Amino acid sequence: MTKMKALVCRECGKEYPTKAIHVCEMCFGPLEVKYNYEEIKKNISRKKIQDGPLSIWRYADLLPVEGPTFLGPHAGMTPLVRAKNLGAYLGLDELYIKNDTVNHPTLSFKDRVVAVAITRARELGFETIACASTGNLANSVAAHAAAAGMRAYVFIPGDLEAAKVLGNLIYKPNVVEVEGNYDDVNRLCSEIAGEYAWAFVNINVRPYYAEGSKTLAYETVEQLGWRTPDQVVIPMASGSLLTKIWKGLHEMKTLGLVDDVRTRINGAQAEGCSPISTAFKAGRDFFKPVKPKTIAKSLAIGNPADGYYALKATAESKGSMDMVSDGEVVEGIKLLAQTEGIFAETAGGVTIGVLQKLVKQGTIKKGDVTVAYITGNGLKTQEAVIDAVGKPHRIQPSLASFEKTFKMGKNGGGDA
Ligand SMILES: *Cc1c(COP(=O)(O)O)cnc(C)c1O
Repeated sequence: MTKMKALVCRECGKEYPTKAIHVCEMCFGPLEVKYNYEEIKKNISRKKIQDGPLSIWRYADLLPVEGPTFLGPHAGMTPLVRAKNLGAYLGLDELYIKNDTVNHPTLSFKDRVVAVAITRARELGFETIACASTGNLANSVAAHAAAAGMRAYVFIPGDLEAAKVLGNLIYKPNVVEVEGNYDDVNRLCSEIAGEYAWAFVNINVRPYYAEGSKTLAYETVEQLGWRTPDQVVIPMASGSLLTKIWKGLHEMKTLGLVDDVRTRINGAQAEGCSPISTAFKAGRDFFKPVKPKTIAKSLAIGNPADGYYALKATAESKGSMDMVSDGEVVEGIKLLAQTEGIFAETAGGVTIGVLQKLVKQGTIKKGDVTVAYITGNGLKTQEAVIDAVGKPHRIQPSLASFEKTFKMGKNGGGDA
C-alpha cells in the first residue's frame, strides 16, 4: 500500500485519484492529500528522520511523492536561530527565528513547496512547469526547472522588485509580466491551465505543492529537540503556509513523534493587504477580498485561496492574527537585522512587526517558547529599505580624513 491514499475534498470529503487536479467536481471545494497514516507510522521514527538527508527529504515519508528520485535536493533544514538579543528586546525568554532567508536555492521558503511540486509534477509525466507568483515562487520555479531540464513559464505581476524580476530572467524560463496585480495574474493562469497540459505548481498541482510547507513544522519540532513551540508567528499571503504548519504539527502527534500539540498559531499580514487578519479581528470566519497596496509584495494576495482555512486553523489553535503598517514593516526588518544579523525581506518585517504587537498585547507571553517564521531574503526587496538605512561615511583615503570623520580619541572613537 502506498502512503498517499487519495486527494480528498476539504468540504464534502469526496475522494479522487492522486492526479493533477485541485477542485472537487461535486462542490468546487479545494482538494488536499490524504495519507495512510497507519502505514507511515510503521515506517517512521525520530531516528530514521535524524539519519536522513539534511534537507526537506528527510521527511519524504510525509510528503506527497513516490520517489525514489527527488528534485530540489537542498531545500530545507535551514537554521532555527535562538534569538537572544531580539528576545531580550521584546521581553521573551525563549524566542527562535526559523531562518528561511537562507533556504536553497532561491532564498525563500518557496523552495520547499516547489521542490515537492516539481518532483510530483515529473512523476505525473509533466514536461512544462508554470506558476502564478507574487515573486518568490517564480524565482524558485525558474531555478528548479533549469536544474531539472524542464520548460517553464512564470507569470508575475507588473510591479515586482527588480531583484525578483532578475531572479527569474537569469534562469531563462519564459517570464511573463502581466499588467495587473497577483489576483489578475492568478485569474489568467487558471484560464491558461485549462488550455494547456502544464503543471501549474499553485493551481492544478497545488494539493502537492502545499504539502511542502509542512516541513517548516517538522523541522522546527525536530530542531527544538522534539518539542512543539507554544506560539508561532507566520506570514500569510494565500494562507496556505499557515494551514500546513498546523497540519504538520498534528501529523507529528498522529505518528507518535510528539506527545501533544499545544501550539498557538498566529497569522501576520500587512495593513495594505490584510483580508485574513481583518476578518479575524472582526470575529468573522470569512474574508472580504481587497485590492492590495503594500510594500510587502510577496504577501500581496487580495483574494487568498486558503484564507478561510487559515482563519479556521488559527481559531482551533486559540491563536491570533494581526497586521502592521508599511512603516512598521521597515522597522521590523531593521530590528531583526540589527539584533540578530538576519536580513529579511518585507514578509519578514511583517512577521517581526506582528510578533512585537502580539507581545505588547500580552497575547504572546514572556515564558512562551515562540518561533517566528522568516520566509524570504532582504537582498530581494532592497527598494523597501533603501531610504531607511542611511548612507556610508565617505572619506578621503587618508588617516586624517578617517579621524576627522570619526572624531577619534586616544582609545579609539565613538561612532560618527
Ligand atoms: C509566498 C510567501 C509567503 C506565504 O505564502 P502563502 O501563500 O500564505 O502560503 C510568505 N513569505 C514569503 C516570503 C512568501 O514568498
